[in-house]
Amino acid sequence: MIAWNAVGAEAADILSRYLQIDTTNPPGNERLTADFLADLLAGRGIEPQIFEPAPNRANLVARVKGDGSAGGPLLLLHHMDVVTADADSWSVDPFGGEIRDGYLYGRGAIDMKNLGVMQLLALDLLRKQGKPLKRDVILMAVSDEEMGGVVGTGWMVDHHWDAIAPEVVWDEGGFGLVGLMGDAPVFYVAVAEKRDIWARLIAKGESGLASVPRGNNPVDILTQALERLRQHPTPLRLTPITRTMFEQLAPGMGFPQSFLLKHLDNPPIWRIAAPVLAESAEINAMLRNLVTPTMLRASDKENVISQTAEAGLDMRLLPDEDVGAFVSGLERIIADDRVRIEIPEYGEKSSVSPFDGGFYDVLAGVLKRHVPESVTVPMLTPGATDSCFFRRKGVAAYGLMPIVIDSGELSRMHGIDERISLDNLQLGTQIVYDVLCAMCL
Ligand SMILES: [Zn+2]
Repeated sequence: MIAWNAVGAEAADILSRYLQIDTTNPPGNERLTADFLADLLAGRGIEPQIFEPAPNRANLVARVKGDGSAGGPLLLLHHMDVVTADADSWSVDPFGGEIRDGYLYGRGAIDMKNLGVMQLLALDLLRKQGKPLKRDVILMAVSDEEMGGVVGTGWMVDHHWDAIAPEVVWDEGGFGLVGLMGDAPVFYVAVAEKRDIWARLIAKGESGLASVPRGNNPVDILTQALERLRQHPTPLRLTPITRTMFEQLAPGMGFPQSFLLKHLDNPPIWRIAAPVLAESAEINAMLRNLVTPTMLRASDKENVISQTAEAGLDMRLLPDEDVGAFVSGLERIIADDRVRIEIPEYGEKSSVSPFDGGFYDVLAGVLKRHVPESVTVPMLTPGATDSCFFRRKGVAAYGLMPIVIDSGELSRMHGIDERISLDNLQLGTQIVYDVLCAMCL
């Protein structure tokens, strides 16, 4: 028998110390936390390897060996870096690791040093239970997720694939949320993310002095093109992931929502339900391709008309979208040959991780045991996580923080007074441990 209260107390102690190491990215300084985790692992008889992609940056890999009879390695991933915290707005020191009224406060408490601690303790308990493992379990702690993973997961996948090469990855992405859809807690497991492409819209006109304008001002051409895009929102569209998500949420909802969510495939129902669903910004992002202008550039002097004007576009495409066809569609909407869309080289389509059978079912089963009234559904992540590096290589990756919170708690992530309840920290550790047992014993 595992004394879970003692494990929970240990998790709180470790996470408090972990949160006290400032890994705000930039600059990151994750070497400090890699050393911190390496000491904890070594003290438990697990020898980690540290990789140094750049000065003061680090990625840590620790492996507990299995015989492989159940399959390839399960990789437990978390990032050690955090986003900035404006200390003046917080009611506690964001790097104080303070415990108050059953909550542990600090930047990284839910994004995502917490999962790192749950994984570390669960892995140690798995090793201690003494039975041989049927697959390897790898713990990987990386730098740089908050800035795109260039020296973190991206670098490990490009330069040290041999040191990891997992069959399945468990990362961040979704949460267990209450009060969003129906009354029961819902665990949203990220199985795919939208493809992000940063494009430029470039308008070409005629340069000259602003005192005597002669027409063809590229700023006018550009703003017209942007206005046309604004007037033509992309269509709302169900993908297999969102269809399954709504179908599985339906039983927990009252009538008529339950009926509508179950039959979104039906075109008349879709026409009624889609705009209502899309009123939520998060769901809207799951149901359509998005093109959001984020940057503008033209002349650098007020009295000079430049020859070109540019807008930066953040494009977020559904996983099955064809990039070329989508961009041609935008060109047809703009319908102006003085405007061109420049897109960077883009890599392979990222795969959608299977959400029936295998790891997904194991995870859903464990969640149901611990939170019997809960529902587990697959989710498309509107943003990007490190999982994309694995999904691009065709490796199944699942994103879930195994805790139950409400949207108020969630908004503290990247916000003010980020915190995790001690109950959630213990619950998450138990869930990770049970999943490891089910996957490895
Ligand atoms: Zn994160």
